[in-house]
Amino acid sequence: MALRELSDFLDIPSLRVTGYRKQQDRVEIIVELKANSAVCPECGVRSTRKHSEKAIPMRDLPCFGRQLYLLLPRRRFKCNHCCKPFTERLSFVDFGMSFTKRYEQYIYDQCKERSFTAVEKQEGISDTVIAKVYESFSTAQMQRGGSLRQRPGKSGGA
Ligand SMILES: [Zn+2]
Repeated sequence: MALRELSDFLDIPSLRVTGYRKQQDRVEIIVELKANSAVCPECGVRSTRKHSEKAIPMRDLPCFGRQLYLLLPRRRFKCNHCCKPFTERLSFVDFGMSFTKRYEQYIYDQCKERSFTAVEKQEGISDTVIAKVYESFSTAQMQRGGSLRQRPGKSGGA
């Protein structure tokens, strides 16, 4: 029951909370995926042939003054259709990242208000990683805006 409430509080609809561990400086929330199938990125066919699963820590938004990690299953499937093995893509994580998208957004917002060094200290992650997140977010934001801003001084001009 309490775990169901925690699932609701976590607010990622595709996940179910199965437990948690509280540590000095962090909370780990153990989750599982509700669906037991995934879509093959190669051919778009949904597959249920899971062939491996491994829990990996995924950094998420801080909670009650502690760092928060989701222990999230990284699942590999074998496609029913094209027979290729693939790693499941998740809507709330950019493929290959160990942060949730909303945590990346949070880092980006923090960086707009303070220095990378301050964010590094506050979040306990390296400034190289922070710079990478910041850069990828600014690029994504520009692309969403429809036009890539031209660098001044390049091409054209009076
Ligand atoms: Zn396939």
